[in-house]
Amino acid sequence: MATHRIAVIPGDGIGKEVIAEGAKVLRALERLEPHLRLRLTRFAWGCDWYRKHGEVMPADCLEVLARFDAIYLGAIGDPANVPDTIAQHALLNLRKGLDQYACVRPALLLPGVRSPLAGQAPGAIDFIVVRENTEGEYAGTGGRLYRGTPKEVAVQTSIFTRAGTERIIRYAFALAGRRKRRRLTSVTKSNVQQYSMVFWDEVFWAVAREFPDVQAESMLADAACMNFVRAPERFDVVVASNQFGDILTDIAAAIVGSLGLAPSANINPSRALPSMFEPVHGSAPDIAGQGIANPLAAILAAEMMLDFLGERRGARRIRRAAMAVLAEGKALPADLGGQARTAEVGAAVLHHLREAGRA
Ligand code: ATP
Repeated sequence: MATHRIAVIPGDGIGKEVIAEGAKVLRALERLEPHLRLRLTRFAWGCDWYRKHGEVMPADCLEVLARFDAIYLGAIGDPANVPDTIAQHALLNLRKGLDQYACVRPALLLPGVRSPLAGQAPGAIDFIVVRENTEGEYAGTGGRLYRGTPKEVAVQTSIFTRAGTERIIRYAFALAGRRKRRRLTSVTKSNVQQYSMVFWDEVFWAVAREFPDVQAESMLADAACMNFVRAPERFDVVVASNQFGDILTDIAAAIVGSLGLAPSANINPSRALPSMFEPVHGSAPDIAGQGIANPLAAILAAEMMLDFLGERRGARRIRRAAMAVLAEGKALPADLGGQARTAEVGAAVLHHLREAGRA
């Protein structure tokens, strides 16, 4: 019997609402897969915790989380009460501290979902963005001098190390090599960022020589934004720095229907420390507490988590159940044009999960 220890951090805003549905799906799956044991441990960290304890997560959070096999996260952020820089720092601290250097974000147009782009059939958009997750523009190096005075200076330095750049590019090539189309697009801005991005390009083409079966190309970030909208079908795997990956994956989520459908995995490929699975979206304060958030991104993040843990059959069951809900079109949430509430969408996934389990 396989037991997987999972740390669950619902976090803030709609994070709590969507992770509640994802956890129900995991519990139901456990009953359908007799060999599967998921030991879920919930941590009430996030902005509520900050208001009580003065920190978003306890100082020893990395040591605590290191004892788990995976982390299932909702979203951290409550901009009305806690500065975003503090909330985001806590999240970046987890990704860096657990060396989850590969952020993997699939963009797949699922059956039953309408892309805002005209004429896109299900499956026509099917690519994965691999975002560098530990350094680059979000390395957090810099400072401010002469605060509040006319001569104030702010410096934010990007960090691109050879080791960090090589490993993310190699990860993306290996992923592309396992896919049917075997194509990798590297996104940079080397026409204006003549140090970091020219360096990235050099590393990209050097690593490309290790993967002769993968068709490699380099594209400028502005062209990539345009092509994500104009010709998304041409992409297979895309690799980009922390910031470019961040921006590109919001476009990717939008063209496959909604941020409410987009899952994300923060992977530590060495498996020495746990990887973390979450929806791409944040805490969405504008709709938090209303019970109308789409839980499917969180549920599909649970699918990615099980797949990573080697529970392929369980992962497939979750995917099929989520797709059945979309194809049926009866319990669609507001962001997909329906009226179903978060819990109703979750219940519909559970229904299809159990129905398929009985069949
Ligand atoms: P962050 O800065 O962490 O990305 P944010 O609140 O600025 O957080 P998101 O939470 O990513 O931005 O979402 C942007 C908008 O998209 C939300 O304000 C909300 O309207 C919509 N949205 C995001 N996720 C969902 C969801 N699961 N269901 C429905 N709508 C969503």
